[in-house]
Amino acid sequence: MSPAITYLDHAASTPMRPAAIEAMMPFLATNYANPSGSHRFARAARLAVDESRDLVAATIGCRPDEVVFTGCGTESDNTSILGAVARAGGRAVCSAAEHHAVLHPVEATGGVVVGADRFGRIDLDELTAVLETAADDGGDGRGVCVVSVMAVNNEVGTISDVAAVAEIVRRLAPGALVHTDAVQAPTWVDLRTLVDHVDLMSLSAHKFGGPKGTGILVERGGPRVAPLIVGGGQERGRRSGTHDVAGIVATATALAITDAERDAEDARLRTLRDGLVDSITGSLDDVVETIGRDDDGVAKVAGSAHLCIGGVESEALLYLLDEAGVCASAASACASGAMEPSHVLAAMGVDRQVALGALRLSLGHATTATDVERGAEVIVDAVSRLRSRSMALRS
Ligand code: PLP
Repeated sequence: MSPAITYLDHAASTPMRPAAIEAMMPFLATNYANPSGSHRFARAARLAVDESRDLVAATIGCRPDEVVFTGCGTESDNTSILGAVARAGGRAVCSAAEHHAVLHPVEATGGVVVGADRFGRIDLDELTAVLETAADDGGDGRGVCVVSVMAVNNEVGTISDVAAVAEIVRRLAPGALVHTDAVQAPTWVDLRTLVDHVDLMSLSAHKFGGPKGTGILVERGGPRVAPLIVGGGQERGRRSGTHDVAGIVATATALAITDAERDAEDARLRTLRDGLVDSITGSLDDVVETIGRDDDGVAKVAGSAHLCIGGVESEALLYLLDEAGVCASAASACASGAMEPSHVLAAMGVDRQVALGALRLSLGHATTATDVERGAEVIVDAVSRLRSRSMALRS
């Protein structure tokens, strides 16, 4: 990447690990065979897929036959929700702070969206009430077939207590599956600590240094949901479509490196993230860290800095940052010409006006101290310029 770019958007996508690029190249350049074939070329490609599956399983702490390679994190999430409803009937349940890849299929199948707490975690009391009502049939005879809880929130970086959610589901709705969207987790959370609590887990390679367009669905204990994509019967009928051998090999490589480096990276990036936030809040007033590092009882990933900046609108700020080569994001969307704050902040009860000044800065394996220093400098300058502009307009 050009040295003029300061990339602080790793939660959106993180650069590929060089070792992952190296691992995938032979399957783009020389061994391009379809791994479902029977000739030696195909067998070599199939061996690469099998070895990747073994590596992924060892890194996650599950069995190789529980690993299904998919086309992206969205596909894994969609398969979990739509496939659970298709297989068992009943309702899907999630919180209002989930990624749209979960939220939309839950809504589309007439599921239940429960509230979130002020940190973006599912409201456990509301979940309990929903499951208790469903146990009494909810009046309409439709029980709950799947409860989905994200491991790490993609906007504000909160780590959920997946084990606590799973315990409630097992107790009150023993027939329901537990799914976790762990797309944002691998850089920060040891997946072995999650996998035993859930039936389904979704991952996406481009969030941990693999390529875009490759995902993983873990189905514990064999097929748990109906497949979303049917056809040639690849992935033991759980996800048809010719394997992306290069993508799968790179995904396994990136996941294993991410796992091996996690502890050291967590400490390194936590220090850089805290420095970034301190530089900004130390130079500007009216800037709130949406989830403070000292907030009681809340765990937040080391690479996430989410700020609400008073007196500026995210869109205008992102424009100036982009001009200066700083890549960040805000997660607001422009609907019908009016800026709408993010659904996650709305679910957390963040005031609409405050949420319009949201800025998400996310760090990852390629982040350096220089990125953080330059990022802080450019952000402070851009916010100061926007504020003096609006003061001038008002006077
Ligand atoms: N779930 C979460 C929490 C995400 O952050 C994302 C990507 O932003 C997705 C799902 C979708 O993953 P993909 O981009 O692989 O479709």
